[in-house]
Amino acid sequence: MKPLILWAFLGLSINSFAFNFTSDFQAGIYWSELPVSAQNFATNQSEGQVLSTLVSQAVSAWEDSVGKEIWNIPGSADVGGSPFGNAIRWSNNFAAETGFNPSTTLAVTVRYRTGTYFSRFEIILNGENTALRNNLSNILYQTILHELGHVIGLDHSPFSNAVMYASLQGNNQLSNDDTSGAVAAINETQRRQEVGFVSELAKGEGEAANALACGSVAFIKGNPPSGPGNGPITVLFGVILAFLLRLIAFGRKKLPIQVAF
Ligand SMILES: [Zn+2]
Repeated sequence: MKPLILWAFLGLSINSFAFNFTSDFQAGIYWSELPVSAQNFATNQSEGQVLSTLVSQAVSAWEDSVGKEIWNIPGSADVGGSPFGNAIRWSNNFAAETGFNPSTTLAVTVRYRTGTYFSRFEIILNGENTALRNNLSNILYQTILHELGHVIGLDHSPFSNAVMYASLQGNNQLSNDDTSGAVAAINETQRRQEVGFVSELAKGEGEAANALACGSVAFIKGNPPSGPGNGPITVLFGVILAFLLRLIAFGRKKLPIQVAF
């Protein structure tokens, strides 16, 4: 019996996944249709070229892993225009715009909702981080890959080899955990679309419902910010705690209402 139990235990460990859904997706909020159209925004041509290329690669990685089209994003950027709609863009004023610490945060994904549906998303890249801006060690690609996972409702994974791990670990490829999470999220999205699912959150609300947003952060491996604790998770939690305290103190005026980590 013992070897069998051990085998079963090992099998379970190897085959179990740990991906998580964001709290708003868990609460029944979803994209009303796929693919989700979006646009890259940049301030100049070369920056737009880099951004568009990396976004296209990241989109392909997720879509290939799921076997379905998830996003419809042009292979070029809107240069010089004001961002609108579903947007992937840089912020040169990251702290003021997002409420996150620009020295510890690479990007924030914000998901808005109307009723039971996600109505808009924004991936806001920290333009004050030069390493990110120059895609040093491919971290811009890794960050975009990570943030796109948040767009479809994936929260952070506890596995450090996962792209959806809370801090940047240099993972250029989706892990099995990422893939399983994406398949589950997209399947659940399509199931909700087919049955016309309505979230409890949306019931009793007026036609023009409020916006619900969610932010997330990532850190550069080997370059943890100074702060309490030793690991990025601890620091991450500290950032979120500080942010939540600020929300309580000043009311919900800033973007993120639910913070994923
Ligand atoms: Zn994240």
